[in-house]
Amino acid sequence: MSLATEVTSCRSCGGERPRPFLSLGATPIANRLVRADALDAVDPSFPLEVGFCESCALVQLTHVLPADQIFDEDYPYFSSFSDMLVRHAEKHVIDLIESRNLGPDSLVVEVASNDGYLLKAFVERGIPVLGVEPTPGPAAAAREIGVPTREEFFGAELAQRLVDEGLRADVIIANNVMAHVPDLNSFVEGFSLLLKDDGVVSVENPGVGALLAHNEFDTVYHEHFCYFSTIAVEALMRRHGLELVGVTEFPELHGGTLRWRMGRAGAAAPDDSVARVLAAERAAGLDSFERYGSFGAEVSELQGELRALLTDLKAQGKTIAAYGAAAKGATLLNSTGINTELIDFVVDRNVHKQGKYMPGARLPILPAEALQERQPDYLLLLAWNVKNEIMAQQAEYAARGGKFIVPVPRPVVL
Ligand SMILES: [Zn+2]
Repeated sequence: MSLATEVTSCRSCGGERPRPFLSLGATPIANRLVRADALDAVDPSFPLEVGFCESCALVQLTHVLPADQIFDEDYPYFSSFSDMLVRHAEKHVIDLIESRNLGPDSLVVEVASNDGYLLKAFVERGIPVLGVEPTPGPAAAAREIGVPTREEFFGAELAQRLVDEGLRADVIIANNVMAHVPDLNSFVEGFSLLLKDDGVVSVENPGVGALLAHNEFDTVYHEHFCYFSTIAVEALMRRHGLELVGVTEFPELHGGTLRWRMGRAGAAAPDDSVARVLAAERAAGLDSFERYGSFGAEVSELQGELRALLTDLKAQGKTIAAYGAAAKGATLLNSTGINTELIDFVVDRNVHKQGKYMPGARLPILPAEALQERQPDYLLLLAWNVKNEIMAQQAEYAARGGKFIVPVPRPVVL
């Protein structure tokens, strides 16, 4: 097991060491679920601390793990499992086809294409695609549904090889991956190499503005090296000859997602959204350390409230379960000191997670049916980003008296 290394310079601009503002202690790798036969072993823990680059405004972890510690073959995320994500993706596909006039001579490349759920929608409409997905399980699943997929990490090197093979992309899509990229500059240079002169790059990621505004500290984990503002993205793209031409906000997606559209510098005029979002971010203080500095104290307060609420319910003899064995759940549980003394089990619809245990906290992961069978008094929504979807699915649990606890932006019982 290799150790975490301390960041000495900014991952984007190469400037001075990012200034720390939030420490969540030493926690295990959030996506590394524990198998039943490994319950006796101690999960290795690594510092989880976030800093701010005072040169380019990029928020990033101050300690990082090597990529091979994170994207291993057990990586459990299969995207098709979220209904909301599938609907969001379908709409994006239709928007792109119409706005870019895509057809049989076009090429759509998706970076971190996962199990191919998004590219499949282009394939069904006769538009050529190429997926790039480094994790073997999802890559194989994508090929099975007819989505050609390279099982590799994306960067300048792969982009150049694709160009040498005669490929250039009309559209490059990178959703929820940029935060995971160890070499940001190679990644974005790859966009620049592979993109046709009039092509468009579409990048989606939860925004750091929403993270701060809604206390979404649990979206911090070792796999997320960076937390992006539009200010930081603009600087990163410009360094590689790309220009921000549009920003779309999706407040309900992953706690507040931004979609940035880039073209080659000078190829197309930016729309009004770019100036508007940049001004709003500056007004919110996302370009200065001051705003980030107060965030650490806000998080400690929230964690204290949540722990007190659960401890109090437990003292009253109530039973508590959790919903959503995702990475953010692991951060929330482990950084707040919540384990099986307070919560009996966690449910998740993903069959690949069931039968395993949350890292650190060691909650057993059961199918959602366990809620009907065991009817716990309270259900802590670790997957609060899809709380409406979960509460609709669990109408029967609620009808039988079950209550929901939403942990952020402040713990509340519904
Ligand atoms: Zn920087």
